[in-house]
Amino acid sequence: MIQSIRSLSSFLLLLLACSLSLHAQVQKPDVVLEGDVTAAQNRTHFFVPFAVPQGVHRITVDFSYTHRQEKTTLNIGIHDPNGFRGQSGSNKDHFTLGPGDATASYIPGFIPPGQWKLLISVSSIRPELTSHYRAEIRFNSPLEDASFTLQPLETSARWYRGDLHMHTAHSDGSCVNQSGTRVPCPLFLTAQMAASRGLDFIAISDHNSLAHYAEMRELQPYFSKLLLVPGREMTTFYGHFNAFGTTQYVNYLVAEKGGRTIDQVISDVRAQGGIVSINHPMSPTDERCRGCGWGPPDSVDLAKVSSIEVVNANRVMSPFWDEQIAKGHRITGVGGSDNHEAPKTDNIPSAIGHPTTAVWATELSVAGILDGIRAGHVFIDVSGSRGRVLEVDAHTADATAHMGDAISVANGTAVTLRVHAVGCKDGSVQTIVDGKPFDAPATLSEDDQAIETHWTSDGHRHWIRFVVLDKEGKPELLGNSVYVNF
Ligand SMILES: [Zn+2]
Ligand SMILES: [Zn+2]
Repeated sequence: MIQSIRSLSSFLLLLLACSLSLHAQVQKPDVVLEGDVTAAQNRTHFFVPFAVPQGVHRITVDFSYTHRQEKTTLNIGIHDPNGFRGQSGSNKDHFTLGPGDATASYIPGFIPPGQWKLLISVSSIRPELTSHYRAEIRFNSPLEDASFTLQPLETSARWYRGDLHMHTAHSDGSCVNQSGTRVPCPLFLTAQMAASRGLDFIAISDHNSLAHYAEMRELQPYFSKLLLVPGREMTTFYGHFNAFGTTQYVNYLVAEKGGRTIDQVISDVRAQGGIVSINHPMSPTDERCRGCGWGPPDSVDLAKVSSIEVVNANRVMSPFWDEQIAKGHRITGVGGSDNHEAPKTDNIPSAIGHPTTAVWATELSVAGILDGIRAGHVFIDVSGSRGRVLEVDAHTADATAHMGDAISVANGTAVTLRVHAVGCKDGSVQTIVDGKPFDAPATLSEDDQAIETHWTSDGHRHWIRFVVLDKEGKPELLGNSVYVNF
């Protein structure tokens, strides 16, 4: 038994070693600091300097040393050119610091170039030993710019369910405190509530903020089944849009006079590896909310936009979406609760997960979820059920396409469209072609049912999607389009 526990732990160590070397393979260290520590240095501190060049926005350190099993203990910390930036004693071998986030124990912030120093405090070393330490330092780690975890939380391909739009104390999220007073609402409650609702991922999208990323990085190891996606609602006077998958600063100061254009901001997000999603495009914009509706004064290249929030809380905004697709843009429809109060009960639109966006992804990682959104492998579960599913595939004699895919269909050729709906008994399926209902909805008499419908191409560009309606005829599930001849 002991033997099997040992072999399990050595297997886990091997896995850990593999994961660290995976990170190392992704990016070679920019600086390696190495040296020996002897018993003469017991209970002393020393600094190992290293140079940080201009243009570095994130520093990541991996630290290791020999003779740990003989109770050698080296504590580490880091100083920037201006002083202390944190220390983690002997409890962390890996840490990262960026503009908005840092591993717990470390102080986030911009990275000044100049001489930085790794602090090594020799807590314990036996008289006969010499311990060799090695610090691998990486600059601008792309994986840690985009994600709070180095590994996917899950590696199976399936539908992952999440909420892409929510606010916390780091912008205008609020809730009631112990004394009954409304206060800025702690981010932890948002993650806790999302986990309790069975979501697989959330993007917390505080307005123009970087400040929420530090807590997200701290929480990610605890929420080992809930992927925390870096998000930010770029909030301008002419429209709101989410940036997903980047933790770097973006200048969001859009103005007609003396400011940037929305197109420039979108380009910056993309240059950092992030994606852009337009939020609540059909909301009114007036004195109550300047810029809530989409109305940029300058032209925006919609080809740079990956998705549009088609369902915000309980408001369905598909006409704007269809207008963009009609212009030739394959833009994915997503949902977002726009939650501003984490404890809201889950049957209220804008509660966390209401609506839920389901993304078909090959793994539960930021890259996996964003790839699924880019590809349009997405449906929206309007009321945030835990288990409803909508799957679509389109077949001709020589091709198959799923939601979000394109298919070429010659004039006069029929396409068979197979729609699979789960959890929607007594509802109906509406076929939508080019944004308009195509025929009468087909009734769903079973809880898990596939129906087939046929459509004949005229050789031109069209987009076909499906909406599952509930008994009252209200949208329950919204699918993305199969793009014909795009
Ligand atoms: Zn907004
Ligand atoms: Zn919002």
